[in-house]
Amino acid sequence: MSDFDVIVIGAGPGGYVAAIRCAQLGLQTACIDHWVDDKGKPSPGGTCLNVGCIPSKALLDSSERYEEVRLYSRDHGISAAPVSIDVAKMQVRKEQIVSDLTSGISALFKSNQITFISGHGCLIESGKVRVSSDAEPEQILSATDVILASGSQPLQLPGMPVDNKVIFDSSGALAFSAVPKTLGIIGAGVIGLELGSVWRRLGAEVVILEAMDSLLSSADRMIAREAKKQFTRQGLDIRLGCQVTAVAPAKEGCTVHYRTTEQDQSIDVERLIVAVGRRPYTEGLFEPGCGIELGERGVVSVDANCATGVRGVWAIGDVVGGAMLAHKASEEGVAVAERIASGGGHVDYSAVPWVIYTHPEIAWVGATEDELKSEGIEYKVGIFPFAASGRAKAVGATDGFAKIIACGETDQILGAHMIGAQASELINEAVLAMSMEASAEDLARTVHAHPTLAEVVHEAALASQGRAIHKVNR
Ligand code: FAD
Ligand code: NAD
Repeated sequence: MSDFDVIVIGAGPGGYVAAIRCAQLGLQTACIDHWVDDKGKPSPGGTCLNVGCIPSKALLDSSERYEEVRLYSRDHGISAAPVSIDVAKMQVRKEQIVSDLTSGISALFKSNQITFISGHGCLIESGKVRVSSDAEPEQILSATDVILASGSQPLQLPGMPVDNKVIFDSSGALAFSAVPKTLGIIGAGVIGLELGSVWRRLGAEVVILEAMDSLLSSADRMIAREAKKQFTRQGLDIRLGCQVTAVAPAKEGCTVHYRTTEQDQSIDVERLIVAVGRRPYTEGLFEPGCGIELGERGVVSVDANCATGVRGVWAIGDVVGGAMLAHKASEEGVAVAERIASGGGHVDYSAVPWVIYTHPEIAWVGATEDELKSEGIEYKVGIFPFAASGRAKAVGATDGFAKIIACGETDQILGAHMIGAQASELINEAVLAMSMEASAEDLARTVHAHPTLAEVVHEAALASQGRAIHKVNR
């Protein structure tokens, strides 16, 4: 008889959601996680709650409010001078949010009767996990099924070790105690743009060095171009086609050497953030020879159902590759729990949304035009600008546009791409439509409340049918 039906290793959004769903389905479940906060207290919630989605959004919100008051409130007849930012207080707010939410996970474990074990989990063989920690003697636990949900870690660049004094990874960059005068960022990906926005809004001079010749390679090209235009206008200095070659200590901070097609160049910055991607985290996760295999870039190899090659062992979230997103990890967790309990479980990978929480926000789901072109699929496009929306005008958020792409033959929605206010919320309408296999005509015929920003998505759907209402034809 096993100690548990299911043991989950990792309590990030993949692992803790999998554990809750297992418990809901009547399975005796344990979840093991080794994350502790700076006081040594267990802190379930993984990257997402501790050093990812949540703290970054807390800082994005604080910095956006600061910029709003400083630059845009006058248009509303509001004056508040002088405006200042107390970084220490902003950080206390962020930490309180993190601590409230990680405590919330502990409460959820308790209410679902999940055994939470603070410690390091290592799969020894099918159904057997060793748990070690400083506080308790080592123990071997058994379970019919084991779910590996160990997440990911920031990638480092050779010769540029993160010391969190001058060279920072994303975790360190979320905890700055003061605004640096100058900030370099290597990588204009999601983290570079979000954290670059935070510290620029608070007063840093930010230079982002990106190796590729274009921004956001997986986004729609029109959206990426608009994003570059907007961010540059706000003062983010984004330099494309820059290969960073070395980082050397300087009197205050460091000198970053980089190469473009034209020449070798360098910049001096007080602080540098390395944001060049993340890698699956598998250190000490399983005994070598237990049958778990690692694939390209170190991901745990799984089949289409998240099953590893070892009987009763599954893997989900950032550690298995695909989009490194919290909601993708959670959906895989739910699907695996359901497969364990009943044999069924499904994730619709074609409708996983992406959101970048800059201002304006960027969001997309499904195919881009380039992808459809390369697959030879006929499509039609409807585009509608925020500037033509009454609500966007009223709230002073007229930058950007929404774009709906529908199949040229069947009219089924194949993709939605937007840059603009509240795109993070608006995208969910397109995700729902795509999950229901709706046509652009279905979306166009859906009544939308007025005045709302969602009308921009509605009008983009109408535009794909050649009949947007509030669009001036040129
Ligand atoms: P993780 O969240 O990394 O959790 C893995 C957990 O497993 C950790 O708690 C770790 O301590 C534990 N663990 C690992 N190995 C062991 C072991 N052997 N024993 C015990 N415990 C172990 N995604 C979004 O969708 N939206 C966002 O806005 C967003 N913002 C982000 C911002 C930043 C700055 C970063 C860095 C990431 C962001 N992400 C965002 C990505 C998101 O955080 C990850 O995709 C998500 O956390 C992955 O979930 P996971 O459960 O697979 O892994
Ligand atoms: P990323 O993959 O989004 O971007 C990395 C960027 O660095 C790319 O543009 C790449 O071309 C560039 N790059 C790589 N090597 C380089 C080099 N040597 N010199 C210059 N540029 C280089 O990675 P990230 O920003 O580190 O984020 C990691 C992951 O975390 C994301 O892919 C995403 O899955 C997740 N995340 C999501 C959100 C969100 O959903 N809002 C926010 C933050 C992070």
